[in-house]
Amino acid sequence: MVSWKTRMKAYWLAKQGKVKKDIENERRIFFTVETGGEEKSVIYEKAKNKWSCDCQFFSLKFTDCSHIKAAKQFLEGEDAGKRLD
Ligand SMILES: [Zn+2]
Repeated sequence: MVSWKTRMKAYWLAKQGKVKKDIENERRIFFTVETGGEEKSVIYEKAKNKWSCDCQFFSLKFTDCSHIKAAKQFLEGEDAGKRLD
């Protein structure tokens, strides 16, 4: 379960341009998400439809952290043009 706070943070990160798509190939998409002066690496595995992140939250809970949520928002925004606005 993702809390309201996590969703809000993700929305903010995506909206503020803190999400960068680094590399995309047939199997994976690599993102960098900047938060609090740190950069987190988020990876999306297309075939498995699985997301992962190198932050502590994700390594403890194995559930979507704000960085993964932000990357998802970023992808949705990219697909839909300017849907975030
Ligand atoms: Zn994370």
